[in-house]
Amino acid sequence: MITKKLKASTLGLHAAIHRTGELEHSQAIFQTSSFIFRSAEDAAAVFAGKKSGNIYSRFTNPTVQAFERRLAILEGGESCIATASGMAAILTTCLVLLKQGDHLLASRTLFGTTISLFNTVLTKFGVEVSYADPCDLADWRAKLRPNTRLLFLETPTNPLGEIADIAGLAKIARGADAKLAVDNCFLTSALQKPMELGADLVVHSATKYLDGQGRCIGGAIVSDRKIGEQLFGFMRSGGPSMSPFNAWVFLKGLETMSLRMKAHCAHAQQVAEWLAKHPRVKRVYYAGLKSHPQHRLAKRQARGFGGIVSFELKGGQAAAFRLINRVELFSITANLGDARSTITHPSTTTHNRMGAEARKVAGIGDGLVRLSVGLEDPGDLIADLKQALG
Ligand SMILES: *Cc1c(COP(=O)(O)O)cnc(C)c1O
Repeated sequence: MITKKLKASTLGLHAAIHRTGELEHSQAIFQTSSFIFRSAEDAAAVFAGKKSGNIYSRFTNPTVQAFERRLAILEGGESCIATASGMAAILTTCLVLLKQGDHLLASRTLFGTTISLFNTVLTKFGVEVSYADPCDLADWRAKLRPNTRLLFLETPTNPLGEIADIAGLAKIARGADAKLAVDNCFLTSALQKPMELGADLVVHSATKYLDGQGRCIGGAIVSDRKIGEQLFGFMRSGGPSMSPFNAWVFLKGLETMSLRMKAHCAHAQQVAEWLAKHPRVKRVYYAGLKSHPQHRLAKRQARGFGGIVSFELKGGQAAAFRLINRVELFSITANLGDARSTITHPSTTTHNRMGAEARKVAGIGDGLVRLSVGLEDPGDLIADLKQALG
């Protein structure tokens, strides 16, 4: 029934439905740790891989598999592995694709915990890590080493919304016999499909827009079948698995994702345009603004600019704290991608651990505020920002 011709919004609702004999309309949750076998012979055949069947929810659970299949279809990949968190997805990707002595070349502007993971965990196992400017292909080319096996990036970046050229980086990776992994958390497959642009893997924090309502922690890795089998092998023995309940919540999230992402984009655009004209605002970082240095690249490689808007206030940290403490509709939380708008001060929270010097290089100032623009009426959000800035 499901064909390639169906659009993303339809696939989000209809792809990979697993219906039981009870004929439930909403999908069932298989909330069980293990599965039984009809006979000893059956158990032996399933364990030997001669017969398909569920064994144990660390690596085979129908609810988790339904989520994995639906996300694989949406991202245009052959395989998907769901993980306990976005960080587990990134760790799994690195442990499967890299070994001692290999080099990981990553964008220097990444989710803060991703940088901590690379610098403190991977290096402990003898993986070399270095960083390149996400927007400068020549810098990536110059930083390749003979042992580079993985390129890793996010686009748009957090919190400054810089845009990396996915197709250009895919070419560089291919030429170096390395894989390209893209963290597609900020735009999701509803707006950007890195694998169509040549990326080998897409990683997700499902915690953000895949859920869309801030309820569960989860992650996923989409890839081709061959890498998928290696990832599955690690899932089975390493165990960074997603729980069936969380998979069910994320399946529900995927049902509305296309529609939500469209609304997030439209609301963020209005908020960004309004902020850009405000006298207390020094600069707005949002790829949907024509003044954004990579506006055209963003338009070419994605179908929207997403819901994250950052801006630098005149008056540094004091002005940023004043705004954050005065808004009423924006929750003060480091999370993003929720239906409800959130507000964050990156330099003292999400990007604090990277240190002042690195923040300066990355351009994350003390007056910087990051908004995750939600599904509230955008006029209400603007009125709230107006009273808080006034
Ligand atoms: C939140 C986030 C992660 C980490 O995901 P968790 O689900 O919190 O582990 C990774 N990358 C990006 C871009 C994120 O925003």
